[in-house]
Amino acid sequence: MGKSKTKPNGKKPPTEEKKPYIEPDYTKVRVVDFDLKELVVLPPEIDLNEWLASNTTTFFNLINLQYSTVSEFCTGDTCPVMSACNTTYYWYDEKGKKTKCTAPQYVDFVMSSVQKLVTDEDIFPTKYGKEFPNAFDSLVKKICRYLFHVLAHIFWSHYKETVAMELHGHLNTLYTHFIVFIREFNLMDPKETSIMDDLTEALCTPLPPPPQNHVTER
Ligand SMILES: [Zn+2]
Repeated sequence: MGKSKTKPNGKKPPTEEKKPYIEPDYTKVRVVDFDLKELVVLPPEIDLNEWLASNTTTFFNLINLQYSTVSEFCTGDTCPVMSACNTTYYWYDEKGKKTKCTAPQYVDFVMSSVQKLVTDEDIFPTKYGKEFPNAFDSLVKKICRYLFHVLAHIFWSHYKETVAMELHGHLNTLYTHFIVFIREFNLMDPKETSIMDDLTEALCTPLPPPPQNHVTER
């Protein structure tokens, strides 16, 4: 703690902000105890694009649902910008213009644009034999980036509410499953996910086995 400086007003510099979500008491709460990697590897005889499409759609639905549990706490007043770990995300409109928006507006942009993509039959074809577009890979990557921003914001700004509702086990497991998926198929630049590396490390470490029962068999 040698370098820590307290500003005259008593506020600590932002980099030292507390991250309750990396405390072991919280990171040990998970809803599954098996290796999530088994869930993400491409099953034999399944087309890679179909696998990416179905997983991406599932993550979209789950992350949308997880955000909906805290959406009443995420307002223009509580979250005037879309932030996570001192990073601010800006929305770029269809013309590539940077837009200033609050976190709930940003999430709304994310959810409606992803919804549009995953339900577009030309991009996420559901009919057998229909081809995926050439840009499919980059669109999946774009969706994953957006969804990551939403997850990171929930941890950064709405962890307290999530814990109060006892939904942090779900959030931890959803995050881990998502990160394991992203890594398996190289869907995000590690530089982009690095803001959450401390959490990723804590959650991707297997839990120690439960304490042994000291019952001696006779
Ligand atoms: Zn918020």
